[in-house]
Amino acid sequence: MKAIFSLLLICTPLLFFGQSKQVLSENGELINIEKVLQKYIQFPSLSESEKEAGTYLKSICKNNGLYISDFGTDNGQYNFAASILPLSSGKPNIILLSHIDVVPESDTNLRKAYSGEIEDDVIYGRGAIDNKGAGIMQLYGMLKFKDVNEVDDLPYNITFLAVSCEETQCQGGIQYVLDNHFEELNAVAVVGEGPSELTGLIEGEFDHPVFGISLITKRPLWLELIFTSKTNGHGSITPTNYANKEMVEALHRLTKKKPKVIYNDMNVAFLKDVGSFHNGPKKAALRNPKLFRPAIVPHLRKFPELLSLFTNTITLTNLITNGGAVNKLSSQAIAQLDCRLLPETNETEFLHMIRSRLKNEEIEIRVLERAPKVAPSPSNSIYHESLVKAITSYYPKAKTMDMLMPNTNDLFAFRQRNIPSYGAIPVYFDKEEVRSVHGKNEHLHLKSLHDGSEVFLRFIQILMGVPSTGTTN
Ligand SMILES: [Zn+2]
Repeated sequence: MKAIFSLLLICTPLLFFGQSKQVLSENGELINIEKVLQKYIQFPSLSESEKEAGTYLKSICKNNGLYISDFGTDNGQYNFAASILPLSSGKPNIILLSHIDVVPESDTNLRKAYSGEIEDDVIYGRGAIDNKGAGIMQLYGMLKFKDVNEVDDLPYNITFLAVSCEETQCQGGIQYVLDNHFEELNAVAVVGEGPSELTGLIEGEFDHPVFGISLITKRPLWLELIFTSKTNGHGSITPTNYANKEMVEALHRLTKKKPKVIYNDMNVAFLKDVGSFHNGPKKAALRNPKLFRPAIVPHLRKFPELLSLFTNTITLTNLITNGGAVNKLSSQAIAQLDCRLLPETNETEFLHMIRSRLKNEEIEIRVLERAPKVAPSPSNSIYHESLVKAITSYYPKAKTMDMLMPNTNDLFAFRQRNIPSYGAIPVYFDKEEVRSVHGKNEHLHLKSLHDGSEVFLRFIQILMGVPSTGTTN
């Protein structure tokens, strides 16, 4: 997950350890929750190597009184549910979803990738935000709830679900869990990774923070274009047509055209919401996006992150040939395209458009990865309403904004099964924190661990009908 929408906001420095709750460690000793995250980060859990980190996390859940259900215990398929009631209770279940795996370290890391070191109330290391930090916020909120409430007679079960392989979408992660344990989970709603606080992205005069809640993501369509030529000879004589030339020319035709800006219900609602944070002519334009389309579109094109919410994107990620020597023609040229489709886009029509822009019938188009269409999760469910209330009661004057996210994540698998699923990391991130996700020196302000957990605590309290006990931000 790349929380590209959370930009600069000033985090007030506070002493966090004073606010910190202690939990039972893997050995049954009391430790601060920050130390739990530190140790969790210190297990380098690349996709398909999640077992050690997962075993540690599970031991924390178990030692703090949660009921464990194993959904696979091997690398690449290490998944477990940790619930306040056993799944066999059959209660409607609210799932807090996170993934154990992380992306590889960045080459230019200035700090050790898995150090978990804490300096000036900031914790460093791969996974500090995505998704170990976000997962610990959820778990911490759950444990705070469980500590002070009798859980037997409540209307819901709450489950912390930790899975493998989100980053690579291998088969042993969320797909395996839902293919084999969907009924057992009895999920009625899911909250997982998503946007954080947004005001840094949106121009405007803000007298309040705005937190994003994603209802849907774009869907990936990964393609491979292959041109195989009969010509493979010496580079000293240039044939009229040969693989690399054909491919380069076709790719030029494909990529030179600007992507079409497409309005749908969700991105139009997004523009209107953004409009409410402006004054004057900007407000008028954004509140009437269709009428002011000619003014809005050029503006969107200046911001790739924003533009991605309005377009089907085609990114040429790799070029592969079977050449080798500078004086030998490659007989095959392969291009890989990472395309991301808006929810309503018809895949067949999109592939037709690619085919017609390439203007080369000899190029074979192979689909490497596709995802079916899913509907956005409802913005009028009690789960959505509870999440909004949790955020706005913890952060005074805060508002929330429903949105589409350009990058896909595991919530997709629940949406596919019609379970309302919401993406949110309800904290402030500064610019550097956002850039560090999948980048160098991933880090998280420890205060966010506390803030996020307080929002999740309230979310649970509101749904359960239990009075709020927490403080405000
Ligand atoms: Zn993630």
